[in-house]
Amino acid sequence: MEDCIFCKIIRKEIPSSIVYEDEEIIAFKDVNPVAPIHILVIPKRHIESVVEIKEEDELLVGKIYTVINKIAKQENIDKNGFRVIVNCGKDGGQEVKHLHFHLIGGKKLGTKICE
Ligand code: 5GP
Ligand code: ZN
Repeated sequence: MEDCIFCKIIRKEIPSSIVYEDEEIIAFKDVNPVAPIHILVIPKRHIESVVEIKEEDELLVGKIYTVINKIAKQENIDKNGFRVIVNCGKDGGQEVKHLHFHLIGGKKLGTKICE
C-alpha cells in the first residue's frame, strides 16, 4: 500500500472534494487553488511521474484527457478554455510524487507558460 498523499485521497483516508471518479481515474479540487477552477486529475494506479509512465499505461494516460474534457464541460470552462499542466521532477516543481494533471481555468490566464 502506497504511503502517498494522493493514494490516501484515492482510498478516502484523506477527505477531498471529488468532482469525478471511475474505476481508474479520480479528480478532486486542489486544496490550494491558483484559479477559480483548479482540479487535479490523477490515475488511481500509483505512477510517480511522467518519467515513470510505461507502455502499458498508454491507454490510461490517454483516458485522462477524455476525463479532463468531461470535467471541463461539467465545470463549464470548455467554451472559454483552460490550461492543463503536468509538473515533473525537481526542476518541474513536482511536489507530490503521484502523476497528476492540473486542470486550471475559470479566468483569463497569464500568457507566460513558465518563468
Ligand atoms: P505539484 O506541485 O506536485 O505539481 O502539485 C501538487 C498539488 O497538490 C498542489 O497544487 C497542492 O496544492 C495540491 N495538494 C497537496 N496536498 C493536497 C491535499 O491533501 N489535498 C488536495 N486536494 N490537494 C493537495
Ligand atoms: Zn500515490
